[in-house]
Amino acid sequence: MGTTLLPGGAGNYVLGVDRACPGCQEPLTAPHMLLHCPNHKAQRDHLEAALHSHGLVLNLSNVLDPKGGARGPVFSALAKKLLDCQRTDKI
Ligand SMILES: [Zn+2]
Repeated sequence: MGTTLLPGGAGNYVLGVDRACPGCQEPLTAPHMLLHCPNHKAQRDHLEAALHSHGLVLNLSNVLDPKGGARGPVFSALAKKLLDCQRTDKI
């Protein structure tokens, strides 16, 4: 974890890549997209509820590598979030 091709990271190395999130203009990184963007709070709440139901907090490690029985429900909630946010072109 840590290196992605999201514009917030790729824009550091590739000329002409707009690093900004189209929703709020913060750098579009994985933590921003999955944890912090204020424009997708409703979708993130569903993901956070899936994590909490398995005793996990919302952080990048738990979202991308949930352990044990949380794996299926968290990945389902993550897929729904990405689809609802129309961000599947970014992954
Ligand atoms: Zn944003």
